[in-house]
Amino acid sequence: MSIESLYKSRNLCILGSTGSIGKSTLDVVRLHPDKFNVLSLSANSSVDLLFEQCIEFNPEHVVMVTKCHADQLLERLKQAGEVNINVTHGVKALVDIAKSPSTDTVMAAIVGASGLLPTLAAVEAGKKVLLANKEALVTSGAIFIEAVKKSGAQLLPIDSEHNAIFQCLPMNVQQQSVSCQLAENGINKILLTGSGGPFRTLNNDELINVTPEQACAHPNWSMGRKISVDSATMMNKGLEFIEAKWLFNIEPEDIQIVLHPQSTIHSMVQYKDGSVIAQMGNPDMRTPIAHALAFPERIESGVEPLDFFNVAAFEFEAVDFEKYPNLKLAIEACKNGQAACTALNAANEVAVDAFLNGLIKFTEIFKINETSVKKFVSERVNSIDDVIDLDARVREFSDSLVASFIENVIDKVKPDSEDVKR
Ligand code: NDP
Ligand code: MG
Repeated sequence: MSIESLYKSRNLCILGSTGSIGKSTLDVVRLHPDKFNVLSLSANSSVDLLFEQCIEFNPEHVVMVTKCHADQLLERLKQAGEVNINVTHGVKALVDIAKSPSTDTVMAAIVGASGLLPTLAAVEAGKKVLLANKEALVTSGAIFIEAVKKSGAQLLPIDSEHNAIFQCLPMNVQQQSVSCQLAENGINKILLTGSGGPFRTLNNDELINVTPEQACAHPNWSMGRKISVDSATMMNKGLEFIEAKWLFNIEPEDIQIVLHPQSTIHSMVQYKDGSVIAQMGNPDMRTPIAHALAFPERIESGVEPLDFFNVAAFEFEAVDFEKYPNLKLAIEACKNGQAACTALNAANEVAVDAFLNGLIKFTEIFKINETSVKKFVSERVNSIDDVIDLDARVREFSDSLVASFIENVIDKVKPDSEDVKR
């Protein structure tokens, strides 16, 4: 079983190979040339890095988002004498590499809802899917999980918390994947840990003028810019709360968030008999990536083992929801259904992008998210087409909120809302 299972998952498609997770995945793959073969890679606009990855890993197929970037990459490859790599562009091309019969394992590491269609295609094709792209699951929820059940795809969490929870579950529950019954297996609760981000010790007044650079300087983890801002607002923990509900078939009431500033414990599972099982390690995404790539084997990840004699104190705190209103909003969205989650995700992507581009203040991210969720919470979301349609309409609305923040006239845009006053 062991050698065979590794052999069966050896041909990799890495969606988002130029990002933080994509690069860490290639770091692990680089350590195991005998076990994995890079079949396809993708990027948005990072032509130079994707070119370097092509030279090193010699994939069969690479995909860029636009034709312009694909042409640039093709030209670079031609100049370097690399004429056997197929370069294409666009969403359909991403879907094609994800579901290709030659692909065994798909690392879903595109950021945001842009990763939904290729990730879903991998699921529908019954691949081994390593899920980093939490937004894909948050925005489509039950539709995504039904596709996993229908195709029999193997869904393994990459998010460090969910990977930790997965590792703390009994083997038979791990094998039940998204249909697992936690209570029947003696599990009371999932304890989802979070560091509290770079602004944990700031007061609410100090948060108003924080910069994108400060928000992206996470104390423990090195990550892409969008998830770094999400960690600072703790929207990331909110998205993870929703992600946990779907991955572990668990009710929101049975997920508890625990602040643990050191990020040494990556999450825990609490059993009926009083036992709590935790997964620990240095905060480095190569550990969950190596775990999922090789599952059920264990392979080297390149991560140093935890040195208990030099680990800072293990501290734990309850969450102050006044300080992290985005987290509260996400937990409410999780209880309010799919439209709230889809709207929250889309609004947050727009708001974070606007903040990163210096268009709005850090604290305005919440105002855009809250106003958007309120507006769209009652919509119906029964299919992927519904998800895509709602996502587009929320983005348009959130863009208009950003514009009105810029003009400082938000009260005129939505005069019936009490909640959007600056
Ligand atoms: P990055 O921003 O570092 O990388 C994103 C990747 O997606 C890049 O390859 C980027 O290409 C590509 N990309 C960006 N926009 C598009 C688009 N519209 N269509 C197709 N591809 C696109 O993100 P991270 O690696 O930090 O995060 C990736 C995912 O993993 C996110 O969903 C995040 O929440 C999740 N995650 C990340 C963790 C981390 O430690 N970084 C931890 C847990 C989860 P290009 O380089 O050309 O822009
Ligand atoms: Mg995480």
